[in-house]
Formats: sequence, structure tokens, C-alpha cells
Amino acid sequence: MKAVVIHGARDLRVDPFEDALPPGPGEAKVAVANGGICGSDLHYYLHGGFGAIRVQQPMALGHEVSGVVTALGAGVEGLRVGDKVAVNPSRPCGACAYCLRGQPNQCLDMRFNGSAMRMPHEQGLFRETLTVPVQLLERFDPGADLAHAAMTEPLAVCLHAVRQAGSLVGQTVFVAGCGPIGCLTVAAARLAGATRIVAADISDTPLAIARAMGADETINLATGSDAMEPLKRDKGQVDVGFECSGAAPALRGLLDITRAGGRIVLVGMGGDAPLPLQLTVAKELTLKGTFRFHEEFATAARVISDGRIDLSPLLTGVYEMEQAVAAFDLAADKSRAMKVQIRFSGG
Ligand code: ZN
Repeated sequence: MKAVVIHGARDLRVDPFEDALPPGPGEAKVAVANGGICGSDLHYYLHGGFGAIRVQQPMALGHEVSGVVTALGAGVEGLRVGDKVAVNPSRPCGACAYCLRGQPNQCLDMRFNGSAMRMPHEQGLFRETLTVPVQLLERFDPGADLAHAAMTEPLAVCLHAVRQAGSLVGQTVFVAGCGPIGCLTVAAARLAGATRIVAADISDTPLAIARAMGADETINLATGSDAMEPLKRDKGQVDVGFECSGAAPALRGLLDITRAGGRIVLVGMGGDAPLPLQLTVAKELTLKGTFRFHEEFATAARVISDGRIDLSPLLTGVYEMEQAVAAFDLAADKSRAMKVQIRFSGG
């Protein structure tokens, strides 16, 4: 079979890859259908890694995939051949201090598909077939769209982010940065009961998608930053801000518009950002990080399978596996692309 494999910066190939093994007890074999390209996949493609992490050996990319079950090992219940599934790329060890205290997303020995953090690298899911423990699979209704099912992982990230903020019922929410994670945060905030959602970006294209995903108002910070002024009134009008851009100016803006006692959840992975401590202290703001997900993966799958969030506005395009390089090039063009997927043989 074949897989989409990164060899180094700008060196992405569709390579022969070791066939998935027949499923053992408690395992299932899955024909991969759709695989979404994520920011970290793009970092490997454009730069050969991020921060100190470098690709040191060929590695299949991908951690956002859906598929169809093609074979089951002994003792598997609740899953049948032909079932549509999403594959959880996250495998905490279950034994370290964080796993034992109920923070498995902080696992000290995490295995995450398509990550070069470990040696040998943890291979990604952009392969035609996979054999995995069934606990990593979430089943979808037969009518579910496999392209939408492949967005389970990023939605799980956003449900985890929303959870960090506490209750959003009746709250005014501001989302800074409307890439796929920002737009899914808008949808997750809507699902969680926010009554007013304002989304901001520096480009109109993602803002239109944010509106389609549930934003009540949008602000183009490049052309219409005056629109931020009313939000600064009375120390800030926003109850909860989500920083989804990773850009330092966006965080600064959130500090100005979040009301005293409000919360800011930091979702975007930026570099260092200056923090006006005086403002943070005097307004009694809570700043909260968020990282990956755990039980939210199952929740995300349920929400998508039930059609409670319409993900179709997010999908820019789907490319066949052989066109993986073109898919990555499109995904890298933020002015045109939101979520770009690759279709594998199970699709
Ligand atoms: Zn652990």
C-alpha cells in the first residue's frame, strides 16, 4: 500500500508503505477514507519540523482521518465491518503521573500519530490502511459524511478549548483568528450556549466562513479595526476571549476588550508575546492554556455524526492521494484554503 510521507522540508512523497497487519484481538483494520491537513503537517512540509523538532527519518504525516472498518480481530464488540469511523491519533500511556491524575492529554510518554517528537518517529495516519485498537475508533452513523468525520480531531481540540473557559451559557465570546481551529471554536462556543459570538481575522475569506459556522459579527482587523472600539467600553464587553491566531497583537487586543473578571483561553501556538501584566492584574483576568483533548474526541464524533454542527463551510477541497503535494500547496495558501483533505482508498 501507499502513504503520504515527509522526507524533509518541501520533500513530500507518495511512497510504498508497509501493509497494515491483520487485526489481532481487540483491534480493527480500517481503510482510510479522508485525511485532513493540519497546521503541524504543514510545518513539516514547509519547514521540515517546528521549533527544535525536525524530521529525522521518513514519516507518514496526518492525524485527522476517517475510514471504514474492513476487518475485526477476536473479541471486538460494538463495531462491524463496513462501519464508518474516525481514528483517534492520541495514545497516552495510561501509567505516568499525569495519566494517573486524569490529565492524559499531558501524558509524559504520549504517542501521537504523525509526530517527530519521538525516535523512531510516530508514523502518521495518511496511509491507505491502518490496524488499531478499537478504543481509538469512534463509530459514525451509516449516513455520515466521511469528510466531516475526518474533522473529529480538530473539533475535539476546540471542545477541549471551550471547556477551559467554563460555562459559556449566555456569554459574549470573541474569537481571534479564523483558521480551521478558530472557526471550529466559533461552532463549539455556539454549541456551548454562547449568545453573542464575535470573530476577527485579517482577511475576509475566513471571516465569511466564521459567519457560516455561527459567528454573529465579524471584524476584519486589517481594514476595520475601529469596530473593536465599542468592545473596549467599560473595561471590556467580552466575557470570554479565545486566542486562535498565535499572533501577539491578537492577544493584546483581547486584553483590551475582555471585561474585568473575564477569561482568555490561549489556543493558538505562537512564539513569545509581551503581556501587559498591569492590565491583566487590574482587570483580574484569567488566562488559560489549552492543549489537545481527551474524552472530547468521542464528544466531537457524536456531535458530527448527529449533524449538530455543519462542517461543510470549512472544507476547501479534497484531493486524491496521488495529488498530495498539490493538496499541501493549497493548504499552505491561507488566502484560499481553510481545510484541505486527501482522499485515500477507503473513501
Ligand atoms: Zn501517560
